[in-house]
Amino acid sequence: MQLTDQFNRKINYIRISVTDRCDFRCIYCMSEQMKFLPKKELLTLEEINRIASIFISMGVEKIRITGGEPLVRKNIDTLFNNLSKNKDLKELTLTTNASQLMKKAEMLKASGIERINISLDSLNPLNFKKMTRTGDLSNVLDGIEHAINIGLKQIKLNTVIMRGINDHEIFDLIEFAIKKNIDISFIEEMPLGDTAFSRKSTFTSNDEILKKIKTNYLINKIDYRTGGPAEYWQILGTKSRIGLISPHSHNFCEECNRVRISCKGELFLCLGQDDKIELMPLLREYPNNDQPIKDAILNSMKIKPKSHEFNLEQNKPAVVRFMSHTGG
Ligand code: SAM
Ligand code: SF4
Repeated sequence: MQLTDQFNRKINYIRISVTDRCDFRCIYCMSEQMKFLPKKELLTLEEINRIASIFISMGVEKIRITGGEPLVRKNIDTLFNNLSKNKDLKELTLTTNASQLMKKAEMLKASGIERINISLDSLNPLNFKKMTRTGDLSNVLDGIEHAINIGLKQIKLNTVIMRGINDHEIFDLIEFAIKKNIDISFIEEMPLGDTAFSRKSTFTSNDEILKKIKTNYLINKIDYRTGGPAEYWQILGTKSRIGLISPHSHNFCEECNRVRISCKGELFLCLGQDDKIELMPLLREYPNNDQPIKDAILNSMKIKPKSHEFNLEQNKPAVVRFMSHTGG
């Protein structure tokens, strides 16, 4: 079977947030004083694996594990190991801040992780600290180096550019990607969660970033897609591509192929809307019968919204939950 929503979009991709916790507090993602969920309100790793299997039986082929910082979840290795055994899953991917990669890269390789997105917003130790509040740049760079050295393939950088904070580092970050032969994507800042400062003043559009990049690099727009909303440009004379993920300046909702599962089992139909259904009560009421959960997922397809509605002018979050809760 193939999950299809009310607008005839095929849903073959899920993102699962395995924890709302993180060892960083990136200024565009979290507030300084975050309250995290108590453990009993989180899906167990077994429940996450069950949800994944149910979605796979409904036509999902690709799963991205995210968070919060997925690699800080206790015993996360078990989940990767179990997911990697599901033969109908075509692609298992991860988004991470790289803080744990020195310890976890081998495990990820053994689990057949295909693609890793690593968030990196600054190459300056002080600026990195300012942006992540608690992160250590050298540890992150060591983690990236280690992942490359042990042969983890398809590592890509994800960067959020904030005006007045790291917009002067665009070329340095691109040079880093070129030197490591990896791709780099720029993600426009989204108004998710109340981070206690004005996103309107820091928002930098990808149109502006592209213009700037063109002043320094020869780039060609290419057809390359990874099943997501990024549009890609090849940097001529290098192995690196630049991806632009532009939820504000280029609405990509017509091609949306995904839903998200939060760390407490909410099935969110759109990152930028509140429409959701709760899977945790069903999982716990029917431990040995997947049908009620499948029915709920099928029904949810009728309420998947046509598009997100981000509006920076309102100067308040489009949705009040943080990206770390829903899974970025
Ligand atoms: N902790 C992991 C990491 O940072 O890669 C995974 C979770 S994080 C929420 C996933 C991605 O969301 C990161 O690339 C991060 O830069 C991005 N992100 C978080 N909050 C965002 C926001 N408000 N707007 C745009 N991107 C955001
Ligand atoms: Fe943590 Fe990732 Fe959010 Fe940064 S972007 S605070 S690393 S979840």
